[in-house]
Amino acid sequence: MSRDFAEFLERTPGFNTRAIHAGQDPDPLTGAVIPPIYQTSTFVQDGINVLRAGHEYSRGSNPTRNGFETQLAALEGGAAGFAFASGIAAEDALLRSLLQPGDHIVLGADGYGGTNRLISQIYGRWGVTNTPVDITDLSAVRAAVRPGRTAVLWVETPSNPLLAIADIHGWAAVAREAGAVLVVDNTFASPFVQQPLRFGADAVVHSTTKYIGGHSDVLGGAVVVADRVFRGQTLAAAVGFQQFAGGAVAGPQDCFLAARGLKTLGLRMERHNANALLLARWLEHQPEISEVLYPGLPGHPGHALARRQMSHFGGIVSLRFRGGEVAARAFAESTRLFALSVSLGGVESLICYSAEMTHASVQGTPLAVPADLVRLSVGVEDAADLKRDLARALSSVRAAVQEEQVLRSTSMFADALPA
Ligand SMILES: *Cc1c(COP(=O)(O)O)cnc(C)c1O
Repeated sequence: MSRDFAEFLERTPGFNTRAIHAGQDPDPLTGAVIPPIYQTSTFVQDGINVLRAGHEYSRGSNPTRNGFETQLAALEGGAAGFAFASGIAAEDALLRSLLQPGDHIVLGADGYGGTNRLISQIYGRWGVTNTPVDITDLSAVRAAVRPGRTAVLWVETPSNPLLAIADIHGWAAVAREAGAVLVVDNTFASPFVQQPLRFGADAVVHSTTKYIGGHSDVLGGAVVVADRVFRGQTLAAAVGFQQFAGGAVAGPQDCFLAARGLKTLGLRMERHNANALLLARWLEHQPEISEVLYPGLPGHPGHALARRQMSHFGGIVSLRFRGGEVAARAFAESTRLFALSVSLGGVESLICYSAEMTHASVQGTPLAVPADLVRLSVGVEDAADLKRDLARALSSVRAAVQEEQVLRSTSMFADALPA
């Protein structure tokens, strides 16, 4: 990148300009507007340890990966970014670079099921304990800190799948007092909607599989860190070493897809947000639904906070049904445009029965998800078509609930009969 252009980019605050240009310079050799995919494991040396452009071996660094890491760090306002093979691999690398055996984690209770599984079932075996807390209750967060032992506070906001909003600034203050690192999982919001480092978080993790990739065609994860020192080294040095030494890196093809997706994140998020808000407002008035969980609705308990720390309210909407589990299951199995599937954040709409599809690992625990809940990942299709699809599914809910009532009354009748 020419110095003039680098300075121009630094002065340009625009999100979309950074998304398209940061780390994505045209190829200096050929002028190709899109930098090539460096599908290589190793790099020729001009003499022993004389590296032509600083690259030696693709686990340590690869131009395609580095370009994506620069692009993402520019959008989160971080000191450095690191790309991994999946969101969970990114979380694992971050935790390994921060923790020692015997450490303690304060963990937001409402969060991605796989994060809880990683921390409880893998890190638990290495003597790392955790305390789940209500993410909206800062005094509970403070009370959960074990002085001298708590190394990490981990929170996801908006949370999955209850869409609760955590006060990042407040969590950061508790982390600071405890001498711990605050990690925010920013997957649901994406950097277009929220930049946690601006509110005092020390590190952000992403499943780039979701909004950043944005097309449901790639698995990936990333960590972006603030310029901060923990246990004697910068977070960038700690995570960079772990990425190289642990080796769970993202491959060049996957980084290319994630970088391409990231360029249109702003455009896509505006449409995800608009569609989600429209559907959430409409769903609130449907008699089959007892509650619409969406931070963009004025009745949402986190609405005021969301307005302060998010630029939009995101594309995820959760619903609870008056008819309970039967209704929620019938709804999830009746939509057509909304494909029944785990994951989220792609251009196409998805629907998920969270209790069994994403949160099976916490079923039967206090962290279990309500059985009457369905989560929508609202895509960028035409809103009228999405609404029609949901309206049709609601009529299936009415039929399923009626059928259940009939079954129940006949079985009650059968119970009353002499054998
Ligand atoms: C999907 C997801 C993850 C895990 O990411 P993978 O790419 O599936 O490994 C972590 N956090 C959140 C919020 C997610 O939605």
